[in-house]
Amino acid sequence: MPPATPTPPEPAAPGPLPLVGAWGTVSRAARPVVRELLVNGPSTRTDLARVLGLSTGSLTRLTKPLTAAGLVVEGGTVHDPANGRPTRPLDVVAADHHFLGVKLTSDRLYAAVTDLRARVIAETSEPLDATTPEAVSARIAGVRERLTTADTAPVAAGVTLGGAARPRSDPDAAPRFDAPFLGWVDIELSERLTRRTGVPCVVENDVTALAHAQRWFGAARGLTDFALLTVGAGIGYALVRHGRMVPADAVDLREFSHHVLDPGGPMCTEGHRGCIASYLSTRSILAAAAHGLRRGVTPEEVAALARAGDPVCRNVLRPAAWALGAALATVANLCMVKDFVVAGEGLVLIAAEEGCVEAGIRDRRHRDHGSLRVTTLAPDFGEWARAAAVTAIRAFVLREE
Ligand SMILES: [Zn+2]
Repeated sequence: MPPATPTPPEPAAPGPLPLVGAWGTVSRAARPVVRELLVNGPSTRTDLARVLGLSTGSLTRLTKPLTAAGLVVEGGTVHDPANGRPTRPLDVVAADHHFLGVKLTSDRLYAAVTDLRARVIAETSEPLDATTPEAVSARIAGVRERLTTADTAPVAAGVTLGGAARPRSDPDAAPRFDAPFLGWVDIELSERLTRRTGVPCVVENDVTALAHAQRWFGAARGLTDFALLTVGAGIGYALVRHGRMVPADAVDLREFSHHVLDPGGPMCTEGHRGCIASYLSTRSILAAAAHGLRRGVTPEEVAALARAGDPVCRNVLRPAAWALGAALATVANLCMVKDFVVAGEGLVLIAAEEGCVEAGIRDRRHRDHGSLRVTTLAPDFGEWARAAAVTAIRAFVLREE
């Protein structure tokens, strides 16, 4: 059996949430136990103690109040593989708590209701006819009414957006966001939403939320090191090293999306040649296709034309796919990660050009290109809405005192 490796502490959850039922009694020390059961499923006390670097005595002491409160239950008897003794694995009661997740884009919202294990119970999407914070809050309150029932009433809600939280001098103050796609500058949303929906609400950057969700309940489960890249209206990037997300502000992310892959490449709106955004942002792809076709086009048209063999669209999408591969290899080379999750609606455009993604990786990772493991998420917003619900789950389970 490998030596015990204590799980690294979780980064701070997005914001404080009020006590919710019996969960409010979960001590800070017991939260890693809940997280471990939630993410990795039922476990014997011996295994839990080993994974968390605790003595079995401490583990029993921590889990006793959880089982007494009915938050954690014992399953049927099994024989402990470590010592052969009969034991009853512990598990979290996941189906009793529900969470609402909402991902905002510039013109639509995507919503999901999940249980505590992020299993989706209901989902929907609606147009955003107005994007003022008041109008968006009212729309989310309406979605909460329409999407949940008395049996699935959410205990917390998470909302994610393509924006960055401003640095806070007071850690207790609600975060304030800048969200260019919504035209928001210095906007407080979580308290406004909590008042409007009657549900404790946390707000987080959408790419950060997606990376956390992949770590807890997705392709990156069990990984301590991986990177997430997203392509669409903007380029998103999140890096997890040693089990913690590397902090990044809006300036860092802007620099990432304008990192130059090829100084002879296409031009972005800021005048760089060959930056990641110049190849991969939806705006760049549409502009390049429109230039070649001498008319405006939609993303769907570009994808369909490329599939039909149109030389202009193929010659726009092939370099875009190459750029994704080159960006992945660049991150791998500089940050020493080999596991990647790729997501975003822009993947619809380059889905047919997988060979070019591979070529981009080979061009920038000369001898070891086969070692990168890339998982691609479905290019729709369902996973983003689920990730927004996970933001609420994380805040709920890791609740700051
Ligand atoms: Zn640029």
